[in-house]
Amino acid sequence: MLLGILSCKETIERLDDYLDRELSPQEAKLVVRHLKICHQCAKRFAFERELVEGLRRRLHRIEAPADLLEKIRTSLEAAEMDAASHGNSNPPRGVLKDNQGSL
Ligand SMILES: [Zn+2]
Repeated sequence: MLLGILSCKETIERLDDYLDRELSPQEAKLVVRHLKICHQCAKRFAFERELVEGLRRRLHRIEAPADLLEKIRTSLEAAEMDAASHGNSNPPRGVLKDNQGSL
């Protein structure tokens, strides 16, 4: 490839990674540069971005429960530390075991 200029093929090959933000800053810059000068690839990019962002919005909704799980896990850990700081007279082993089974 010419220094600093991608061909259409090279740009299209990088579109997915660009949209996933998996390109290095240098490569992302090259893709953007090509999109600015190539109407065809810019159109293709707009289409793919639409697709990916639609997908991402949907994924975001699915990810919400994962957030909740993380909160539960965090509060479990907090409870565990709290119990530990109060001494080992009555460790909540049974509680922890039950929750691990359902998570
Ligand atoms: Zn192009």
